[in-house]
Amino acid sequence: MTVEADSAANTHEGERERELFRSFVALLVSRGSRKGAWEMLKGASIVEVSLKTFYSQVRKDGFEAVAKALFVEEKLERIRELVANPPPVPPRRVAVSTLANQYYCEMQVHLGTKHDVRVTSAELAAGNEGHARLEAEAEPITEEEVTRRIEVGEKMGLVELGLAGEVEGVPLIGRADRVQLEGARARLLLEWKFSGRRDLYPTHVVQVEAYGKLLRASGFDTSELVHAVAVIPRGGPRPENLAETMAKRAADIASVAPWGERRIATTAQMPDPIAGLGVRRLDSSAFTLFVFPHNELAAERDVSWALGYWKGDREPSRTTSPSRCRACPYNAARLCEVALSQPDGRYRVREMTTRDGDTVHLLIANGR
Ligand code: SF4
Repeated sequence: MTVEADSAANTHEGERERELFRSFVALLVSRGSRKGAWEMLKGASIVEVSLKTFYSQVRKDGFEAVAKALFVEEKLERIRELVANPPPVPPRRVAVSTLANQYYCEMQVHLGTKHDVRVTSAELAAGNEGHARLEAEAEPITEEEVTRRIEVGEKMGLVELGLAGEVEGVPLIGRADRVQLEGARARLLLEWKFSGRRDLYPTHVVQVEAYGKLLRASGFDTSELVHAVAVIPRGGPRPENLAETMAKRAADIASVAPWGERRIATTAQMPDPIAGLGVRRLDSSAFTLFVFPHNELAAERDVSWALGYWKGDREPSRTTSPSRCRACPYNAARLCEVALSQPDGRYRVREMTTRDGDTVHLLIANGR
């Protein structure tokens, strides 16, 4: 080969590498999330760092810089193979809490898939702190020990139990606050809510119903499952072993008498998860418990309505409550075009642009 031909070949090779790099960056961005990009890179043995490290690298330097660090000689062949044959984008996983929030305002959930809105408030911080305190009551346990206890039919309470399964083709994931098991029989599902209002809302009911469905899909017997929603007031007393106490009280309330029959009304509109629920209530200074039986038909109906949005069967619906719109972070950030009222000024809004050019809306509650 002549010197000119050699140099032309090098130029051509350089252009091919630049093209490969551009395609590599575009592929990472196309996964729709840092987690999706990391999972794809991990599957192709291109990244070694943990998801947490990858997250912070992308957040700090952006996708292009991270791709550049990975674009080294020994990985080029694997990158070439990945760009030529990318794995299909896995279907979007929906968190059970997100599914439940559709019963507050589905448009909020929809806008959450389009915009990065981060809310900071004393209420959220208190809820996180309260959760952490209740979790800290539990002792760590290995998965092998859990399996052994289930197999021998032991009773146990599991805290922060990760659940996952596919319902109507949509992958659902969640973390139940506390589940009481007797072997493979799920007896009580206890969900903690930190709020000044001691009320039971449709979002609470749908959340535990969906966990009940996931427990069943995971092989647990849910035929005698009872749900308990514990509302814990902010600033109230926090006695020792509160999680254990609430689980015991909920089981006591559930056992006082058999549950009545429930008629499940079907509808094409958003169902009312609370209608006919037959709730038993217990009030104490530290908590209020709402206890009701799991009903598979009701859970099916309520979860199915919410999944209609994720399956693309219908457009997102919006709340009919102007007061929710007044308090809505998306309304404060001027992102909702169907708001029923003006925002009430409870949030200060700041906009930031990330290195990848994405806009982040930071909403800080004005002490309400
Ligand atoms: S402004 Fe109202 S309709 Fe729009 S997302 Fe918020 S609560 Fe829903």
